[in-house]
Amino acid sequence: MQEDRIKIALAGNPNSGKTTIFNNITGARQRVGNYPGVTVERKEGSASYKGHWLNVVDLPGTYSLTAYSVEELVARDFIINERPAVVIDVVDTSNLERNLYLAVQLIELGVPLVLAFNMSDVAEQRGMKLDLALLSRLLGAPIVLTVGPKGKGLDELLEAAIGVANGEIKYPPVRVHYGKRIDRLIDGLEPLVEADAGFTGRRPARWVALKLLENDSRAFADVKSPALAEAVQAGIEHIQKTAGDSPETVIAERRYGFISGACQEAVRTTVEKRHDWSDKIDAVMTNKVLGLPIFLGLMWLMFKFTFVASEPFMGWIEDAFAILGGLVGRFLTEGSTLHGLLVDGIIGGVGGVLVFVPIIGFLFLFMAVLEATGYMARAAFIMDTYMHKVGLHGQSFIPMILGFGCTVPGIMACRVIPDRRDRLVTVLVTPFMSCGARLPIYSLFIGALFVEHGGTVLFSLYALGILVALLSAKLLRKFVLKGDTSPLVMELPPYRVPTVRGVLLQTWEQVRMYIKKAGTIILLGSMMIWFLSSFPWEPEYSTDYGAAIAGAQEAHQGRPAEQQAAVKELEARMHGEKLRNSYAGMLGRAIEPLIRPLGFDWKIGVALAGGLVAKEVVVSTLGTLYSVSEADEESQSLRERLQNARWPDGRKVYTPLAAFALMVFSLLYLPCFAALAVIKKETGTWKWPLFVLAYTTSVAWVISLVIYQVGSVLGIGLG
Ligand code: GDP
Ligand code: MG
Repeated sequence: MQEDRIKIALAGNPNSGKTTIFNNITGARQRVGNYPGVTVERKEGSASYKGHWLNVVDLPGTYSLTAYSVEELVARDFIINERPAVVIDVVDTSNLERNLYLAVQLIELGVPLVLAFNMSDVAEQRGMKLDLALLSRLLGAPIVLTVGPKGKGLDELLEAAIGVANGEIKYPPVRVHYGKRIDRLIDGLEPLVEADAGFTGRRPARWVALKLLENDSRAFADVKSPALAEAVQAGIEHIQKTAGDSPETVIAERRYGFISGACQEAVRTTVEKRHDWSDKIDAVMTNKVLGLPIFLGLMWLMFKFTFVASEPFMGWIEDAFAILGGLVGRFLTEGSTLHGLLVDGIIGGVGGVLVFVPIIGFLFLFMAVLEATGYMARAAFIMDTYMHKVGLHGQSFIPMILGFGCTVPGIMACRVIPDRRDRLVTVLVTPFMSCGARLPIYSLFIGALFVEHGGTVLFSLYALGILVALLSAKLLRKFVLKGDTSPLVMELPPYRVPTVRGVLLQTWEQVRMYIKKAGTIILLGSMMIWFLSSFPWEPEYSTDYGAAIAGAQEAHQGRPAEQQAAVKELEARMHGEKLRNSYAGMLGRAIEPLIRPLGFDWKIGVALAGGLVAKEVVVSTLGTLYSVSEADEESQSLRERLQNARWPDGRKVYTPLAAFALMVFSLLYLPCFAALAVIKKETGTWKWPLFVLAYTTSVAWVISLVIYQVGSVLGIGLG
């Protein structure tokens, strides 16, 4: 039997349970990507149901369909341009009136619609009684009660969706009335919209007319005929004058009025519970005094957990790569180019980065749990007070928290911040938030030098990042982007018990991205660094050292132990000298005077320069440089090699102090070129990315310098 294909889009407010339902429908059959041109995640999946093949897209969570945020535009464009056969609007029933705001806009857009009344368990607990038949009629779409985590109502939902898609289920269309005056304006605009070449009929004329009156920039951009533009302008002025408020406000009020009317008819609440358990938890969690210590405590716990849980796994992966390196090495001639490229370049570099997969996995697991329970929204709420002190608000903390994962989406998330100055300041300070790619650097040095206090060191780095970001915001606010902060009301979603599946899927996405990066950018970076550190190839080394080695063998004839030691020593010297004179060595030695005061040698300089491409490259570069410089010892882990590294005068390179300064530098300097590119894109000029490059690097240099010099004088962490 030929299966038909049905395209389904899932829309809904953030936290309404969209992703849970998406996972229910599609299971593991999903792909994650981005919408073209923006870093809004696009999740797609497919499923087969009773002979129908369903293609499902999880749209970004939105409250509305205005043109103010990328998420809303993405959701709106998808629905308009990709014409899904049916849109399932996932509604949080326990917060019905607010959630129906989006539903009303979908109704007005005239899309085939099914309403999934999710969280119906919560609604029931609160004593809500719904007359579904009546509400369906009032809203003009079938309604199905669902409970996401239990999969309840799923079959019924799919039946309804397929029915609507096939045209078997049909409700009489519903029209929201905006009052005589506005309705008449809309009626008058409709024919002008239909006649305008800019609107080719994908969007209902009435909806376009409404959007134009709402001053929707995206709709405006499509207007071609001057007649329409004039009529809209006149209409807006007319509403402004007669209603004494902007058309947007008046129209939004009317929509809420429509919803409120429908709910009054069809929804009854039997018990009134003013303080449910969510509020009780919040009384403690977001308490004025306790909120911040609890937040900091949870963060500390997160890092401690990450570190302790991942330790054994990392050991196994490290061993596996050592064995792999040894095996591959055995089949190739020692000292050949291929041997160098495979063993030192690729296995040393990429392996050095892949070792940190467990750390990434556990950290994001913990974060996914915090997010799914609703705690992350509280974190922003708690930080709100502190954000105000630096001239921002809690809203800016969300992009910054995203920055813990990756700076690029963090910066893109700033688009939702309405005030231009607030947005710009947030864009400029988000790079200080410690992204996932810096984590391998920390874990490398913590594993080598701070095993006892791993969690604390990690925590202090993340905290320092936040602190520098906040102080920078304060400075920027004071000297560069002056002005008042705009007021903002934040809404807290209720606490929820996360689903195992949702949390694991989200974690897996992050891990997968990390592994993918290791196989692409970092692989290329490692090969490049290997090339730079292995060439130019000076044949005289081989000849000179060959002769010296032969001499040493001669001199220690008959004493195998001494002979081996002497040869090894010479080989190590040869590798060291080769590396110093390679391209990487030249670059490193050119940088060295600048970074010597921070306690860094030239190899670190090369690694930091490589880190501009992507932060993981710092680790893979060190992996490659130290494999290249050692004679054999493939079995030694990078950590051990770092512990053994010496300055020419015999002192250790990686003292705890120097390593800490290095971690701080890695935390604070530019995250990567991709971050620069996205800042350019978001701010529209090269001025800001260049500012960020200069600013972050200077801040990193100064703070690391202070740490290293003060530590040296006080004699802390030198041993
Ligand atoms: P999204 O932001 O719309 O994608 O929402 P998610 O699917 O990530 O769900 C947010 C949280 O709500 C998760 O912790 C889910 O486990 C929880 N959740 C989803 N549906 C329900 C439901 O019907 N009842 C209850 N009690 N919790 C739910
Ligand atoms: Mg989601």
